[in-house]
Amino acid sequence: MGIDDTDSRTGMCTTYLIFPLRDEIREKGLDIIGYPRLVRLNPNIPWKTRGNGAICIQVGRGHGRRFKIGEIQDEEIWAYEKGRGAEAQLSLERISRYFVLEDDNTNPGVVLSPRKLPESLYWKAVRGVLTQDEVERILKEQGARYCRFKNGRGIIGAAAAIAWKARRYTYELLTYLPEHRWMEERYVDERSVIAMDKLTHTTFDNYDYRNRYVAIKPHAHTPVLFGIRGTDAEELKRARTMIKSDPYEAWIIYLTNQATDDHIVAKKIADVRAYESVKLQGHVSKEPRIIEGGHVIFAISDSSGEIECVAYEPTKQFREVIKKLRGEDEVEVHGGVRKEPFTVNLEKIRIVKLKKIKVKVENPTCPGCGRRMESIGRGKGYRCRKCGIKVGEEAARYEYLDREIGEGWYEVPVIARRHLARPLKLMRDG
Ligand SMILES: [Zn+2]
Repeated sequence: MGIDDTDSRTGMCTTYLIFPLRDEIREKGLDIIGYPRLVRLNPNIPWKTRGNGAICIQVGRGHGRRFKIGEIQDEEIWAYEKGRGAEAQLSLERISRYFVLEDDNTNPGVVLSPRKLPESLYWKAVRGVLTQDEVERILKEQGARYCRFKNGRGIIGAAAAIAWKARRYTYELLTYLPEHRWMEERYVDERSVIAMDKLTHTTFDNYDYRNRYVAIKPHAHTPVLFGIRGTDAEELKRARTMIKSDPYEAWIIYLTNQATDDHIVAKKIADVRAYESVKLQGHVSKEPRIIEGGHVIFAISDSSGEIECVAYEPTKQFREVIKKLRGEDEVEVHGGVRKEPFTVNLEKIRIVKLKKIKVKVENPTCPGCGRRMESIGRGKGYRCRKCGIKVGEEAARYEYLDREIGEGWYEVPVIARRHLARPLKLMRDG
């Protein structure tokens, strides 16, 4: 079952639906198979809801290893490693009461499929733009059932979530406040987050040290109290117990495509289209300048064309690296493409090769009398005033400019990180 577009910017979170769903599944005598999945889709689509995340849960009669995936009100939630299909009518009544239908931008969709949907649906939804017509056609072909609310746009994400094959994945452990506290201010202890960050090895994006920002805590108006991301589900369970916070009534672990870079496609500049996320190789063709709002903009070129890249103000210290780029530096940029303005919104950059820039530090001394010589004019060499001897430009003393940055990867700080962007910490681990 895939579900998408049920929440809004001012309330709820689709991931919460696992709890009412689990009640429904249990009542029908079925089991949860594998971890539930949280699948992030194309982050550049302007009509997305909060985080553009859909969920998928596999249901059947479980067998094989059984493992704990969460708790609600001190009751344990288990899943099975494997499952057999089972005929059952799952009712949407329990979950649909949580759909934020009054929000204009919320258009829920639920898809029930007896088999995995074609993987191409996932790639198109995470990298490009998938239309409802295309999705409905495939769902019919595959014998899947679906339910649309309002304009039903949610079936796109719901189908894509089912189609995700989890070739690369991470986990997120989410904790939830009791319903009467969803709209209230909440407390997560900053020092306990820092301690957890330091004591665990496979978690990531917990805390932004330079900006003193607790990244595991979402902004208000959601059932989620905090979410810890990591590559090891067992360590996430330990990490949870290290966090001091308001009491919560439930937690669950999702398998997710967060931090996979699945949204990124390698392209030539001329082939870049709006709403894509791209990886481009090129050299700096317009040096960085600061524009209104504190954003830093520069351009890169390859053999096919030129495109502007922007490090927006919210990317904070990342802009300091970008400002130091100079003409002809070789770079690889990663980022989402806006439609208007048509620019690459930077997530990461690899400085492949810094251009060596020679700067003159001293005029030459005269080979005849040893006095400091004078420049005749730009590019014309030097002359001694006393002896009249002339020498070329190359006779002056040059040094290479200290570029202040090194070759290698740079990423936006945790505070500005997008769900799908793979942190350098994980790239080093392969
Ligand atoms: Zn001289």
